[in-house]
Amino acid sequence: MNRITIDNLDFEVFIEYSQIKKRIRLMGIDISVKYSNRNPVFIGVLNGCFMFMADLLKQVHIPCELSFVKLASYQGTQQEHINELFGVGMDISGREVIIVEDIIDSGNSLRHTIDALERLNVSSISVCTLLMKPSCLKHTFDNIMYVGFEIEKEFVVGYGLDYNGQCRNLPDIYKNVSLPQNEK
Ligand code: 5GP
Ligand code: MG
Repeated sequence: MNRITIDNLDFEVFIEYSQIKKRIRLMGIDISVKYSNRNPVFIGVLNGCFMFMADLLKQVHIPCELSFVKLASYQGTQQEHINELFGVGMDISGREVIIVEDIIDSGNSLRHTIDALERLNVSSISVCTLLMKPSCLKHTFDNIMYVGFEIEKEFVVGYGLDYNGQCRNLPDIYKNVSLPQNEK
């Protein structure tokens, strides 16, 4: 299945699961070396991370813990924008945290996630993302440790990433081929 259409948008295969698995295997080995004896806590940011988190953690062969969070963004009563992190569900103070993200686009959501985790007095935070769009970044980060694949300004789906809620279950990553580059 090289080409799919979802709600009138056309997508074609961009990164095959076999390639994703190879990249993840290397990331897992590297994390296992770097974090041996540090008992890290992996924190996956839902929903997009679910497949990546599962495959990555199968390649991490050291003692570790994991949890999932959700970032909710809403308008407060004073019209201010509030971002809240839900679901940590464990005491992570003093722990070495590895944030697991599906994709970093502008970096806004990563910025909020890092700020919220820092308030929980963790001892360190590094970031492991499957995809990143460097040309779209609006923040600078000094703790992005692993990027699976750097991509152009594309809209991608599959392997956890959705379009209108669809496609998260696809093992390969697809890119949108319907829109001209400047309208993505
Ligand atoms: P940010 O701009 O804050 O870095 O990205 C926020 C969120 O937008 C990501 O976690 C992801 O859910 C979504 N996103 C960004 N780029 C894409 C993309 O190309 N495809 C899909 N499906 N979601 C994206
Ligand atoms: Mg995300």
